[in-house]
Amino acid sequence: MSTETILILGGSFAGISAAHFVLKHVLPQLPKKEEVTYNVTLVNPSKDFWWRVAAPRESVSKQMMPSDKTFYPIEPAFTYAFPKFKFVQGTATHVDSAGQTVSVETASGEQQSIPYAALVIATGFTTPSPLFTQTTDREALEKVHTAFQEGLKSAKTVVIGGGGPVGVETAGEVAEILNGRPGFMASAPKNPKAKVTLICGDKKLLPLLRPAIGQTAEQFLKRLGCDVTYNTRVASSSKLGEEEGAKTKVELSNGESMEADIYIDATGTRPNTGFLPKEWLDSRNRVACNEKTLRVEHESAGARIYAIGDVGSYTQGGVMDQAIAIPVAMTNLKNDLLAHLTGEPHKGDRHYTANLKEQQVCPIGTQKGVGAFNGFRLPSQMVWAIKGRDYLISQLAEGTLRGDQFKKDPKWTPVQQTGKAGLSSG
Ligand SMILES: Cc1cc2nc3c(=O)[nH]c(=O)nc-3n(C[C@H](O)[C@H](O)[C@H](O)COP(=O)(O)OP(=O)(O)OC[C@H]3O[C@@H](n4cnc5c(N)ncnc54)[C@H](O)[C@@H]3O)c2cc1C
Repeated sequence: MSTETILILGGSFAGISAAHFVLKHVLPQLPKKEEVTYNVTLVNPSKDFWWRVAAPRESVSKQMMPSDKTFYPIEPAFTYAFPKFKFVQGTATHVDSAGQTVSVETASGEQQSIPYAALVIATGFTTPSPLFTQTTDREALEKVHTAFQEGLKSAKTVVIGGGGPVGVETAGEVAEILNGRPGFMASAPKNPKAKVTLICGDKKLLPLLRPAIGQTAEQFLKRLGCDVTYNTRVASSSKLGEEEGAKTKVELSNGESMEADIYIDATGTRPNTGFLPKEWLDSRNRVACNEKTLRVEHESAGARIYAIGDVGSYTQGGVMDQAIAIPVAMTNLKNDLLAHLTGEPHKGDRHYTANLKEQQVCPIGTQKGVGAFNGFRLPSQMVWAIKGRDYLISQLAEGTLRGDQFKKDPKWTPVQQTGKAGLSSG
C-alpha cells in the first residue's frame, strides 16, 4: 500500500482554502487503485487559523475585538475528510525537490520528513510589526497584543509608519481608542489625549485607490486626532532604552526624527520563503511562479510545485484574489497529477487572470471608512456595514475556515498545456 500526499505548507487563508479544494475536487478524481491511497497534509506553525484582517482593532482592544472571535482551530474544520486529511503543527524548514520531501520541525521539536506527490507553497508573509503576524501559537500572539494594549494606556505620542491599508486602519483604531469618538459634525477631537501621526511614503494614502479616496481617508483620520505626513519614509527606528515603556526614536527620510511612546511599523511585508532555495524566488523574495498556471517552473524545483496566496509572485495580494487563484492552481495540480499517475495525455491548463479593478475596503475607526469595490467608490456607511462593524468576521471567518467558497468548482475552459506540467520525476 502506498500513499500519495498533496502537501500544503501554510494553514492560513490560502492553505486552508487549497486543502478544501483538493479534498472536494481533486482527490475524488484521481485514479482509484487498491494499493494507493491519497491524502492532503497541511503544515502550519499554529493549530489555530487567525483572522488577520481584524488585527488593527484586535491589537488595540480586547473588549472591541476579543480573540475568541479571531482564532479558530483548524483541524475540526476538516473532520468531514478524515482520514484523508492530516494536520501537522510545525514549520517547514527545507524542501528536497529531488527526493520530493519536505523537512518539518513540529511544535514539539520533532523533525519529520514528509514525502509529497505535489507540493503547494502557501506560507504567506510576515509583517515588520509583531502585531499583525501569527508566528507560533495563539497564546504567543495574544501576549503581544496584551503588552501593546498596556503600553497604549499611557501613550501620549504614537507614530505609525506606512500609508497603505494596514497603516491607515491601524492609525484609525489607535487614534479612536486614545482620543475617543468625535461628535457627529466634529472635524477633530476637542481634547486629544495623544498625538497620533501617520507617516506616508507616497504623496497619497492607499496607493491602490484613487487620490480622492485617500483624501477622504485623511479627513476621517483627522477627526480622530491623527495627522498624516506625506512624501516621507521611515528610515529607521530604535528604542531609546531597555526598560518597559522606553520611547522609540523614528528617523525619517527628510532628515528629521520623532520620539514616540509607541511606534508601529506598517511599512510592508516580508514573504515567508527563507526555507526555500534562493533560485525559486523573485527579486522581492516571493516564490517565482508562472503567472498564468501558478506552477513553480525553476528547473531545480522538479515537478508539481505550486505557489498560492501572498507568497506567490503572481499576485498583488489580498484574500479576494485567492478566490480566483486557488481553483486555477489546484486544477493544474490535479491535471498534472492525473497525467503523472495514469500516463494519459494532459487535460490542459487552467489560467489565472487577476481582477485589477479598483478594490479595497478600509475602515477608519468604528464609525467611518473609505473604499472601492469592482471600480466603484463606496460611501462611508457602506464601508462600515461591510467591514467596519467587525472586520468581516460575522460574514466570512467561519465560512473561510470551512471552505464554503470552494464547495463548487466553477466552469472553466482548458488552455493547451505548455511548459512544465509535472510529467517528469517522482
Ligand atoms: C493587518 C492586516 C489586515 C489585512 N486586511 C485585509 C483585508 O481586509 N482584505 C484582504 O483581502 N486582505 C487583507 N490583508 C491581507 C491578507 O491578510 C493576506 O492577503 C492573507 O493573509 C494572505 O493569506 P496567505 O494564506 O497567503 O498568507 P498568510 O495569511 O500570511 O498565512 C501564511 C501561513 O503560513 C504559515 N507559515 C509561514 N511559514 C511557514 C513554514 N515555513 N511552514 C509552514 N507554515 C508556515 C504562517 O504561520 C501562516 O499561518 C490584511 C493583512 C494584514 C496584515
